[in-house]
Amino acid sequence: MSGNDLEEIVYKNALINAVKHKGKAHPGSVIGSIMSSHAELRSHAKEVGSAAGKIVAKVNAMDPELQKSELEKLGGLKEEKKKVEEKGLSDLPDVEGEVVLRFAPNPSGPLHIGHARAAVLNSEYVKRYGGKLILRIEDTDPRRVDPEAYQTIEEDLKWLGFNWDEKFIQSDRMEIYYKYAEELIKLGQAYMCTCNGADFKKLKDESKPCPCRNLSVEENLELWKKFGQMDEGDAVLRVKTDINHKNPAIRDWVAMRIVDEEHPRTGNKYRIYPMMNFSVAVDDHLMGMTHVLRGKDHLANSEKQKYLYRHFGWKIPVFIHYGRLKMDDVALSTSKARAGIEDGTYTGWDDPRLGTIRAIARRGIKRGALYELMVEIGSKMADATVSWKKVYGLNRSIIEDSSDRYFFVGKPVKVQIANLPEEEEGTIKRHLHPNFPERGDREIPFTGKVYLTLDDVSRTGKGILRLMDAVNIRFKEGSCKCCGEKIAVYHSSNLEEAREAGAHIVQWVPVAKSIVADVVMPDASVVSGFIEPAASKLKVDDIVQLERFGFARVDEVGDKIRFYFTHK
Ligand code: GLU
Repeated sequence: MSGNDLEEIVYKNALINAVKHKGKAHPGSVIGSIMSSHAELRSHAKEVGSAAGKIVAKVNAMDPELQKSELEKLGGLKEEKKKVEEKGLSDLPDVEGEVVLRFAPNPSGPLHIGHARAAVLNSEYVKRYGGKLILRIEDTDPRRVDPEAYQTIEEDLKWLGFNWDEKFIQSDRMEIYYKYAEELIKLGQAYMCTCNGADFKKLKDESKPCPCRNLSVEENLELWKKFGQMDEGDAVLRVKTDINHKNPAIRDWVAMRIVDEEHPRTGNKYRIYPMMNFSVAVDDHLMGMTHVLRGKDHLANSEKQKYLYRHFGWKIPVFIHYGRLKMDDVALSTSKARAGIEDGTYTGWDDPRLGTIRAIARRGIKRGALYELMVEIGSKMADATVSWKKVYGLNRSIIEDSSDRYFFVGKPVKVQIANLPEEEEGTIKRHLHPNFPERGDREIPFTGKVYLTLDDVSRTGKGILRLMDAVNIRFKEGSCKCCGEKIAVYHSSNLEEAREAGAHIVQWVPVAKSIVADVVMPDASVVSGFIEPAASKLKVDDIVQLERFGFARVDEVGDKIRFYFTHK
């Protein structure tokens, strides 16, 4: 793209932004909309940034009428808007310069595909607008902390390419939450409630205040000081909201409570723990979040949190709620996965049946496929259903060119080919990748003793079967009485003949020198067999295409090679 083209794009976007915002374009927003509508410019962020700086200043100095007429000349508002809407990842609303976004998982286990959405969206938006990406581990419910998750989450995020600028762990910040709780009491916006849960609920459901709501600030502070000596359930700290709020769940929600449970990081140092809505809102404010992206299951939480912002007089970030993500055939919930691992149903967090990031990675799905998927789904409010087929399609286009081909024979049947002319024996060469002959060939020794896949043998009947790049054979009835091997007879070596006869053209491996191989399938079943000798050079994490079988990731090498099946 020439410099002139770039300037024209920036100029037009600056004009659009200025016309939409009372004559004043904002460089961050201009850059953001360019990046979303011109994917080809994303790798030229610097040039776009410096052009935007200059051109926005020029546009902002123009008279608003002139801005409008200039924009008309360039096609007006319409065309650009259409382009932006077509993209999965629409612009974030109300961006003023750089953004501060966060991914805030609970450390209850490794991340799953649902988490990938929040991680990818936040990460992509920070790339688009510039700013700060925060990782915040939300571990203020000691009963729901998996001590290993602090590490597994980081590993998963690194695999995903989520590069955070700052990391916080909420259990380090308890004193901060106490300070704001006390301040809220002093503002008269929080009260210590000693009602029992059922009594409070009854009153709340009738929009009636409980007796504690009228305590004075001094009385509340007194109780707050004694909070640490009380028993679990004796009292909670409540945030004052609208007692007539149409959603009873929002009425005077709990900010702090006692939990008698050893915390994996802080042990028994604290007993008073903030509820999620309190710590999240305090942190989102203190960390300067400009936008909060969260699932729509958090809609009521956002409403609760807004009370806190208003009580403290804080600026409310822009809340964006995206729809649910449903994935066919996958146990998404961490608690179900954990139960299954504990009772032995699943082999671990990377069991191929699970929707965890590590299970997906182990199968040879690349982060790029998840990225593309999440960007395509975007942050829309509507629920999205994702099929594995979709993920596979995205992944296939990533791995297709780089995956070398090999012959793998699963469920092997040993076949002896009788009458094989001597000249047919030798070494068969096949390209490692048919589209990239320059990568070289693999050599497969062919002597007439081969393994074939049971299915290929069974369905051939009396017809011809062609062994790829080798010969055409026919099977004899029964099998060898002394060794049980299936007996085939050499038919010809002519490919055309096989084609005309409609023969199946199948992969095979030599009995001598082939390597024992297992392929772990998505349903965790294992297909055992042999892979051709050239596979001896494979390394863990290589992804290959097992011809006529599918793509697979090398999981373990040794005397035996273990693969995890990726997809067809
Ligand atoms: N830790 C919360 C969760 O994972 C954060 C929710 C949010 O505020 O976005 O559900």
